[in-house]
Amino acid sequence: MDFRSRRFKANASAALANPVLQANMKMAKGKFVDKRAISIKELGDAGDFEMTREAAKNIRDLVLDDLDLWLEKFEAQAEARGATVLWAKDGAEICRHVVDIGRRHDIKKAAKSKSMLSEEAGLNLALAAAGIQPVETDLGEYILQINNNEPPSHIIAPVIHKSLDEVADLFHAIHKTPRKTEIPALTREAREVLREHFLTADMGISGGNFLVAETGSVALVTNEGNGRMVTTLPRVHVVITGIEKVIPTLEDLALLMRLLPRSATGQSISNYVSVLTGVKQPEERDGPEHLYFILVDNGRADVVGSEFQEMLRCIRCGACMNHCPVYQTIGGHAYGWVYPGPMGAVLTPLYTGLKNAIDLPHAATLCNQCGVVCPVKIPLPELLRKLREKQVEKNLRPLIERIALKAWAWVAGCPTLYALGTWFAVRYLKWLAGGKQSIPVLGAAPEWTAGRNFPAPEGKTFRELYAAMSAQKRGGR
Ligand code: SF4
Repeated sequence: MDFRSRRFKANASAALANPVLQANMKMAKGKFVDKRAISIKELGDAGDFEMTREAAKNIRDLVLDDLDLWLEKFEAQAEARGATVLWAKDGAEICRHVVDIGRRHDIKKAAKSKSMLSEEAGLNLALAAAGIQPVETDLGEYILQINNNEPPSHIIAPVIHKSLDEVADLFHAIHKTPRKTEIPALTREAREVLREHFLTADMGISGGNFLVAETGSVALVTNEGNGRMVTTLPRVHVVITGIEKVIPTLEDLALLMRLLPRSATGQSISNYVSVLTGVKQPEERDGPEHLYFILVDNGRADVVGSEFQEMLRCIRCGACMNHCPVYQTIGGHAYGWVYPGPMGAVLTPLYTGLKNAIDLPHAATLCNQCGVVCPVKIPLPELLRKLREKQVEKNLRPLIERIALKAWAWVAGCPTLYALGTWFAVRYLKWLAGGKQSIPVLGAAPEWTAGRNFPAPEGKTFRELYAAMSAQKRGGR
């Protein structure tokens, strides 16, 4: 597992200092936000949306409260329709299973639809090492793959950080074709390259948006149609998905589909919604002869039943990151692992360990925009606060911070000392400001003023004002 999340602060500083990234993030900012707002209105008045959110939350909670039973039901139904269900404890086991399947069926090339779990596992490297060529077929993922396997920076728009010019340069360099700058021409070029891979791949690998327990099906939601090609053309289909993705019925899927595309891309429905059930039957013209489900734990089982269980309701729509002022400014790579934005700031410490993502629970302003837009009502700011508490309980914060907070708690618990401290602090800051409205450099805490001025105190302390007001009231009686 890669622990680049430990370097969040350095990554964020580098992102802020990168003018190309800043320009690209500025262009992307608000695009999904505006579209989501319009498509939510289509659901009727706000009450209808709230009722749908509440119902979706209840479906996810129902499953998470009895996850083992729903998984067993899914396994039985899927196997009754000819699929094989495998379980993976971690990323290494995912890779082992897929490579074993590849060897069993003599696979040379695997066409992949977007799968965040395969990112968690680093599957492409494992496949290449086993002599199986992995080909990403989602346009964004394909761009990243040909750009030296760059990691995605958004869960539904993996190349949101890239400009059209950057993609044009990349296609020109890799495909050795004349440089094109129109999006339709670039898309056509990618389609021509990928078509060949769809037709020659002998294994398809996909994620799964939902697993339907009553039918043993996987539901796939895509906009490019590559998901259908990957899951129907090759003779072997491998679905890799987290254990928390199961839902009880197809009716529940219909309800969740009212929220997922709207929250993700602001569409009332995605271009392709596929519900895939079982292996190809004799009377069917296409579909896989062999279907495998790899159901992955990778840290999820520890979250079930814990105070963070609500996080497993996540349906990976990306709305929280689209609305997050921190994500909008630094992009996804700074978070250092597969999941960026507020959901990543909660999931990464839970899946990889608190000490490996020490700054992520602090990578938020706690403005609650994420909590407001989350379609399954995950209280993200509350979970971030809980993670911060855990870090303090486990003494994981830097020593200087711990000492400062202990000193603060001691002073705050002693009213006379607190009054004296604030009296001195106000006078000191006023002296530093030298009659101006703000202080450009705060000597004792330079980080506060590294990118902004510190506002100068306006006058007296609250205590002084309160005492003066009380005295005035008494005098007026
Ligand atoms: S936490 Fe909520 S808003 Fe964020 S990706 Fe998950 S479901 Fe969407």
